[in-house]
Amino acid sequence: MSNFINKLINTKIDRRKFLKGSAAVAAAVAGLPLVAYDNTLKETTLDKKDVAHINTDTGKWVAAACWHNCGGKCLVKALVVEGVVVRQKTDDLREDTDDNPQQRACLRGRAEQFEAQGADRLKYPMKRKHWKPGGGDKSLRGKDEWERISWNEALKYIADEITRVKNKYGVESIFSTSTEPGPLLNKLGSYVSHWGTSSYGAWYAIPHILGVGDGILVRDAVNDRFDLQKSELIVGFGLNPAWSAMGNATHFYLEMKKRGCKFVIIDPVYTDTAATLEAEWIPIRPGTDMTMQLALAYIMLKEDDPVTNPLIDWDFLNRYTYGFDAEHMPPNAEVNENFKDYLLGTYDNVPKTPEWAEKICGVPADTIRKLARRIGKNTKVTLLTTWAPARTHDSDSMPQLFITLGAMGGHMGKSGHATGTSCWNNAANFGKALVIAGSDGMVSKAKTYPPLYLNDTEGWKAISEGSYNPSSVFPSINAKPADWKKVVSKVDLKKKVERKPINIQMIWHSGSALLQTREGMKQGIQVHRKVEFVLSQSSFLTTNSKYADIVLPITTWWEREGNFPSSGCNRDIMLVYSNVIKPIYEAKDDEWVNIQLGKLLDVPEKDMYPISQKQRFFNKLASSTVINKEGTSYEPLVEITAKDIEEWGCEGKPQSGRVPLNKFLADGIYQVERHDGDNYGNIAYEKFIKDPVKNPLNSTTGLIEIYSQTKADILYSQGYNEVSPLPKYVPPRDGYESTYSDFHDKTKGKYPYQLINPHYIRRSHSIYDNVPWLREALKQPAYISKGDADKNGIKNGDTVLITSAYGKTLRHAYVTERVAPGVIGLPHGAWADVDESNGIDKGGADNYLCGNISTGGGVSGWNTQNVNLEKWTGSPIPDDVDVPQRIIF
Ligand code: SF4
Repeated sequence: MSNFINKLINTKIDRRKFLKGSAAVAAAVAGLPLVAYDNTLKETTLDKKDVAHINTDTGKWVAAACWHNCGGKCLVKALVVEGVVVRQKTDDLREDTDDNPQQRACLRGRAEQFEAQGADRLKYPMKRKHWKPGGGDKSLRGKDEWERISWNEALKYIADEITRVKNKYGVESIFSTSTEPGPLLNKLGSYVSHWGTSSYGAWYAIPHILGVGDGILVRDAVNDRFDLQKSELIVGFGLNPAWSAMGNATHFYLEMKKRGCKFVIIDPVYTDTAATLEAEWIPIRPGTDMTMQLALAYIMLKEDDPVTNPLIDWDFLNRYTYGFDAEHMPPNAEVNENFKDYLLGTYDNVPKTPEWAEKICGVPADTIRKLARRIGKNTKVTLLTTWAPARTHDSDSMPQLFITLGAMGGHMGKSGHATGTSCWNNAANFGKALVIAGSDGMVSKAKTYPPLYLNDTEGWKAISEGSYNPSSVFPSINAKPADWKKVVSKVDLKKKVERKPINIQMIWHSGSALLQTREGMKQGIQVHRKVEFVLSQSSFLTTNSKYADIVLPITTWWEREGNFPSSGCNRDIMLVYSNVIKPIYEAKDDEWVNIQLGKLLDVPEKDMYPISQKQRFFNKLASSTVINKEGTSYEPLVEITAKDIEEWGCEGKPQSGRVPLNKFLADGIYQVERHDGDNYGNIAYEKFIKDPVKNPLNSTTGLIEIYSQTKADILYSQGYNEVSPLPKYVPPRDGYESTYSDFHDKTKGKYPYQLINPHYIRRSHSIYDNVPWLREALKQPAYISKGDADKNGIKNGDTVLITSAYGKTLRHAYVTERVAPGVIGLPHGAWADVDESNGIDKGGADNYLCGNISTGGGVSGWNTQNVNLEKWTGSPIPDDVDVPQRIIF
């Protein structure tokens, strides 16, 4: 191993020289310097002497995974010389064309070598110095020193603690925050897992109830990228792939713009995507999108004249929807209310006028009026939204309202017209996957016990208080949208779920970053100091691991058997990666840990993993499929010979396929050639629009439910609060209205600002906030409007204190005109760094400011928080890059 470390030392490339290339990539996408402030990267050349000792003639380029969960999914290649990665490149396999772009990696993907071979990799199993079975001094979690222990010691301690906790408190006292321990835990008896909507917000399950697509499990709910080029106007709520999912999404939008499509972006921030597309920017207050959408609908209704000013597609509403007006109520309606009368204020005396909306969302009434007139039936309009506007408490009806707005204009089922979500791994490119990863073929016959589920919005609070919401509807409804009716049929929707007691005494972290990326981090840390045992498996001292008793060093994807990075990504491509380097130091993978613990806990390996990793990878390759030329069915992707099978030492049969096995593995990608008018296009809901009787939607009524009794019943049964069958606006807890102590008197409250948490180009969620190269290229500021900065005496670069009802964090201010007044942008996912002397986070962690608040369908609300802003009078915080890395040994 020391040989390996020496090689790393000798082959490392100076950080500033890496940054030159990385910053150029970011700037090319960004167009304007919102990405960070005051970066002074001066060195511009890589000296030959720096790399002269690297003998690349002996190296091999290997297709390597980018394991960032950003949705981009790009090709990453690593040059391995004598077992060490010395260089990276990206897609150079094909000509880069507008229709078939290369799948080029962003700065994060190109920094992967500094992650996998980083100085802060965890090297050995370790335990907290004052840990003892049962916890020892639990208050020292997060502050204690670490001691190196052997794998044998670590495994014995863990097996003993599992047995002790299980015998004393029962199997349901073990909380596993990720799926990795599942194969072992589900053989030991039931345990506790979690579910949540932290990415999708209200788009998690509600769309399936209404009969429409969510944008991830149902990927063909918006038209194909070539058809979107035929739209005249794309209106986007959010849409910032230039930061969130780099890949090719921004390029696809640019192709639409090149063909004459106009963009309107509605967002609290003038984003880099909006700038790149030269979009009209309509600034809006966070969490208030529904008020603007209601006002758009109101104007369409009031100004529509089927002859002189046809804005509404009445035929569409009549044939394909239920609930728009009193004449079109669904047969199962239990409340005598319809959408049209709600808009007009018949029930609450509040017509949803642009003036009403302006007071809440901040968008001038005239701007709303003008936009409403542009999205009528006779214009080819695509309405897109990211999940973010619905990642707000009480936003359960937002997807329903968005679809209603699209239905009013008839913007579904036709070329150039679409309505739905655009984000993550199919942003701007919709339709069924054209290449599909196969199945690993693993089926265990051993008895398994399913877990109980905690909702993320109440997770830490539930553990702290000892009771939880045992809803069985939402955790499973999203697994298979087509089966949701079966799930729901087993539940009494007229009865509220009753809370049940829970007594968690062991927390087991592995592949997820739950403490870092879910609401209520401060309470989560307290919970970690309360339970009897915390185990964490990770590659770095993440927030999860920092508060653990025993930490196990885990391999990165580069050190494992190859695999497919994701079975669902950009629909045109399938990526595959191979093993890049050997496990470094004493790192092992999660599967190995389960197998070793299984030996100590009497769970045979064959019950957990009846097939070897290599055979599973082979099975996936062999059963991968690609769309046929006609676009009518799928055929085998990979050609496998008898010689391949012999070399792999796996079971299988030779087969013909589109690409030879070794070429696929060497390339690391298969990309389907696309062009406008090919056989792979997609017009969402086309069959339904042609014949809604023969092709009903998956809603209870088979039509789009503008009134949905099922939605109201399911949300009622969830037990948090009741929600109307109509898409009514409910002011979110921690929304704009709650920045006031008295909204009507316009008296501001204790937390007068709204905090948003944009996805950031420095990392993907919290992965990997620890790379120094990325930290230097991109700071983690708090974006503050010029007016708010002046009001608080804050200048660019000052340290500011952001305070919510739940926590406090320090950041440097980035003062800009590109953020709406009253809004503070704190990029999502920074690793918490809590000062134990005062409880203030110095890392800029967004979830340290969030509390555990549960509403409706358990929708995560971390996108909108009420906070206070002030200039920090203590010592300024250092730049992130100057904060020492978490190097333990
Ligand atoms: S982080 Fe995302 S955009 Fe960047 S290389 Fe990886 S998959 Fe591509």
